[in-house]
Amino acid sequence: MIDYKGIIDNLRDEDIIHLMEHFGVRNYKNTENAIIFPTICHNSNIEEASLKLYYYKDTHLFYCYTECGGQSIFKLIEHIYQARGQEYDWYKDVFLPVLDCSNFRELKNSESYHQLRDNYRKKNREINLPEFNKGVLDVFFKIYPEQWIEEGISKETMEKFGICFSFSQNKIIIPHYDAENRLVGIRGRALDEWEVENLGKYMPVQIEKKWYAHKLSLNLYGLNETKENIKKTGTVFIFESEKSVLKMEDFDCINCAVAVCGSTLNKFQINLLVKECHPRNFVICFDKEEKAGEDKYFSKLYKMCKKYSLYGNFSFIYDTENLLDMKDSPVDKGEDIFNKLLSRRVIVNAD
Ligand SMILES: [Zn+2]
Repeated sequence: MIDYKGIIDNLRDEDIIHLMEHFGVRNYKNTENAIIFPTICHNSNIEEASLKLYYYKDTHLFYCYTECGGQSIFKLIEHIYQARGQEYDWYKDVFLPVLDCSNFRELKNSESYHQLRDNYRKKNREINLPEFNKGVLDVFFKIYPEQWIEEGISKETMEKFGICFSFSQNKIIIPHYDAENRLVGIRGRALDEWEVENLGKYMPVQIEKKWYAHKLSLNLYGLNETKENIKKTGTVFIFESEKSVLKMEDFDCINCAVAVCGSTLNKFQINLLVKECHPRNFVICFDKEEKAGEDKYFSKLYKMCKKYSLYGNFSFIYDTENLLDMKDSPVDKGEDIFNKLLSRRVIVNAD
């Protein structure tokens, strides 16, 4: 397993400055205990960002005093892409830049790292995602996590979608297939608190020094299982996370869900849907994000629908009645609430 903490602890102050400059930071204050940067973690415009993002030299962690709180360099870089609305690939755009800056020589000079990097670069030029051998999944256990059962995902559903468990990594394992049932990636839901806080809940999985990462923007999770249903009903529900697809499987209604595994929907994914199951109705079912009194998120979803409205009827779920908690997916409060949200969704018409 990769020693993330080791990588973080081996970053020198000049590495951090170098990385921040890479993201356009020009002014910062270097004090005895901390380096103080503009808050690019939540500001897409550096000019508007105040100097309230502290990097503490002893802990090697960042703290944003305006909004985001504590974050590792890995999390921070993800925040930067998210604030700018840029698509990113965790392995190539987050992990490698940090590794390249870190003096974590042991890993950097190892053959597997170079091989990994070269393979990855080669793969990225192909539009068809490379396939992994399904046999690799045999190292995991067919044990279904209690947390997910409590949330309403049945064992049958987990079995159908190949969910399993890794004791050595303390992760729920989620195999990702493409529409043709090829294994294209394996992601893990971390249960270790340090990892969740500092690296994120969902990450690609590594097995015996090999990463099973894939470009999430070139696939739709669940499509292999739900495309026939989408064909039948003519409607697709597009969610952010894998879990929402699993939850819908246990609803009474027929499962027409896919997940983008991020917070954007791109043209490649729309084309994939059109090619595989040509839906007429596209319903965006992203997590609840809007802060009270704001309309930034509404505009983001509206624009997203508008952009693709020539492909079909676009609409999006937007909770104005507090049926959901913040960060909830529209299926998190059960089928009745989902149906309520669905009936009140925002329809976006083509011009
Ligand atoms: Zn921030």
